[in-house]
Amino acid sequence: MLDRLDQIEQAALEALKGVTTEDELQVWKVAHLGRSAGLSQIFDGLRALPKDQRPQVGRRVNEVKHALEQAHAERAETLRLLGLEQSLNQQRLDVTLPGSRPHPGRLHPSTQTMRQIVHIWAEMGFQVYRSREVETDEYNFGLLNFPPHHPARDMQDSFYTTDPEVLLRTHTSPGQLRVMRERAPEPIRVVVPGMCFRYEQITARSEVQFNQIEGLAVGRRITFGDLKGTLSAFARRVFGQQVRTRFRAAHFPFTEPSAEMDIECFVCGGEGCPVCKRTGWLEILGSGMVHPIVLANGGYDPEQFSGFAFGMGPERITMLKHGIEDIRYFWANDLRFLEQF
Ligand SMILES: [Zn+2]
Repeated sequence: MLDRLDQIEQAALEALKGVTTEDELQVWKVAHLGRSAGLSQIFDGLRALPKDQRPQVGRRVNEVKHALEQAHAERAETLRLLGLEQSLNQQRLDVTLPGSRPHPGRLHPSTQTMRQIVHIWAEMGFQVYRSREVETDEYNFGLLNFPPHHPARDMQDSFYTTDPEVLLRTHTSPGQLRVMRERAPEPIRVVVPGMCFRYEQITARSEVQFNQIEGLAVGRRITFGDLKGTLSAFARRVFGQQVRTRFRAAHFPFTEPSAEMDIECFVCGGEGCPVCKRTGWLEILGSGMVHPIVLANGGYDPEQFSGFAFGMGPERITMLKHGIEDIRYFWANDLRFLEQF
């Protein structure tokens, strides 16, 4: 019986030398240490042996079992290291190769201008108020004192949804009503930045989507002088302390009186050039005193409250600052354009 155990041990160790993969190792384990292996059978037959032989054979069975388990563990470790070495050799990483250069993104030129403008207004005490891009006809036009027949309300000029009362906002001005109805009768100083949409022929000067920054100040005793002083201060911060401004009468349904603000052309210094179309002036924004009807619609008594509002186009200001001649570049997703900012 002891000879038989020696044979089993020798045969198993011999077989283990030919094992080269994890799968083969598993097969070997079942064959030599499994339930139906010769070693297990001898162990199961111990009871049938004569009493005087049992301790000796039993001890030897345990020795062989321990030796085979030990050999199995060593082989497993060897195979693991071998596999690691192989994968290191096959998937060799050449650390001397030049790396791929990271491609840092940056803010869109419109966003850069928007942030600069919003930052200036923030320093002047204006909060940022975000308003929705999908609006009702009532907020986009009606409450802003657009008469029912106004051409801007034409289906051809706006992106309406399947609901004729719901459209993509054509300007940020509905934000005026949103913030007024939220805060009345508290005084207000906010800017409303965001995307607007108009159903227009796309040309070098007009796009179907564009950003606007709306501004609104409401309080007691706010005058047209406040409007001029505040907007002039803003222009000096954007275009430099020396810049001259002028206000031209204009008409908007939601302000009265209304004015467009020009700045002296910073390209030619006012002498006249192609950028300012030889006028020496560049139009920067529209503005005006909030119309009494709009104030009332917002929940403010026009007898006690007054205010001013303004709106400007960050893309237009970006175009002026960088001499960009075509507004279509902004949303064309052409990296050759975007990478320049
Ligand atoms: Zn000029």
